[in-house]
Amino acid sequence: MTLRVYNTLTGEKELFEPVEPGKVKIYLCGPTVYRYSHIGHAVGPVIFDTIKRYLAFKAYEVTWIVNITDVDDKLIEESALTGEPIEAIATRVTEDYLKAMRDLDVVGIDHLPKATEHIGAIVTLIERLVAAGAAYPVDGDVYFDIAKDADYGKLTHRDPAEQTSGTRDLRGGSKRNPGDFALWKAAKPGEPAWDSPWGKGRPGWHIECSAMAMQYLGETFDMHGGGMDLKFPHHENEIAQSETATGKPFAKYWMHNGLTRINTKKASKSEGNVKLIHDLLEQFPPETLRFFILSTHYRRPIDFTDEAMENTTKAIATFHRLFERVERLAGSSPYTMDLRLEGLVNDAQSEADREYAQAALGQKLALLERMDDDFNTAGAIAVLHDLAALVNRFIDEQQLETKPRPDGLNFAMAGAVMLVELGRLLGLFLRPPKKAEPGDSLAGELMQVLITLRKEARASKNYALGDRIRDLLAGLKIKLEDRPDGTGWRKE
Ligand SMILES: [Zn+2]
Repeated sequence: MTLRVYNTLTGEKELFEPVEPGKVKIYLCGPTVYRYSHIGHAVGPVIFDTIKRYLAFKAYEVTWIVNITDVDDKLIEESALTGEPIEAIATRVTEDYLKAMRDLDVVGIDHLPKATEHIGAIVTLIERLVAAGAAYPVDGDVYFDIAKDADYGKLTHRDPAEQTSGTRDLRGGSKRNPGDFALWKAAKPGEPAWDSPWGKGRPGWHIECSAMAMQYLGETFDMHGGGMDLKFPHHENEIAQSETATGKPFAKYWMHNGLTRINTKKASKSEGNVKLIHDLLEQFPPETLRFFILSTHYRRPIDFTDEAMENTTKAIATFHRLFERVERLAGSSPYTMDLRLEGLVNDAQSEADREYAQAALGQKLALLERMDDDFNTAGAIAVLHDLAALVNRFIDEQQLETKPRPDGLNFAMAGAVMLVELGRLLGLFLRPPKKAEPGDSLAGELMQVLITLRKEARASKNYALGDRIRDLLAGLKIKLEDRPDGTGWRKE
């Protein structure tokens, strides 16, 4: 099976061929650590963590970098506004971001370089551009001359002659072209500053990504990611300065994820609808948030709504219920079992077992096809649902709960194990969901009291009381489940 990746640079899905056979190098633009991360900041990392998992599954050796912008206008402004030192803000916000990444099982990042720790490499790259005549100093600032880059604007198909706005730099009175952007900014009083051949100053935002990407991944690498909003000017400028300095292609595949909308509006402080990751993680299990993000194809906008989160919670519960169901039947957990449907299918004793196993193996292929199609995680999740439905139907139709037979249970277990393993390609189903906290043990005990009372009511034919108990619990969103082996409950 061949992997195809949509490349913003060409506007097409292309056959994926790494620069160096067997290896994939990825750079993702990370956060500017001036305020706590919101849900939008989690999208890129969750997507690329999933991409890395999938590429590793396809036997590639993957290196993935996410930068931390810890010196920037925004940080300087935030510090001026709050009085908190820039370094303290950067440290506090970076820690918050890293914790969110850990919680979301974003474990694939190999390096998280900070801009302030790479000033030397940044200055060297700017010197290279100045020496090549593609950058020029003005009063301690250094600008990139976009007229020196023949194909400036190739990512977003812009004509540099019409380029008058959109850069983050508002000084620029002495720029050669309106679209020229700052590589180095002369220090103003009170701002963080480093020595350079042009005097004390600090790097521009764009050059920082070029320098760090080259340091960790080389002058040409495979994938460069970021939100759609970074295409211009940030990525356009990264391409211009990198390719002008090296004379080589910078990134081969440019990949952009959709932005997050909160109740159909762009998340912004002025809308007052910013959802901080650490708040959401108080509200939802991390797996639910990850599942939510992956339920939309990465190039589409993600719509965060209460209803969407409710649906995601229900969706993921169907998988957890199936895993519990299989564990109850087979006596072991599909999270830890090593049982391959591939190894069972030829020994099927009945036509029904064989058909089920073949259908499940077909679903596995379908999921891999979705992932090969530009990492279509939404399509992959749809296949996970189909596979879960298939295993549930098999258990029902084979009446494994009332008439368990060992080979039937094995087939059901192998289906559930396949589901766990395919989910893990997306960073889902890594471990069983947290059972009730110790503090909730009282709730569990009280539920057993109610379940016993209902059972006794029904045994004495007092069905009205039995139903009343069930309905009152339903009002608390607690659902009773009558099974052949007794009554269980779950919170919806
Ligand atoms: Zn960047």
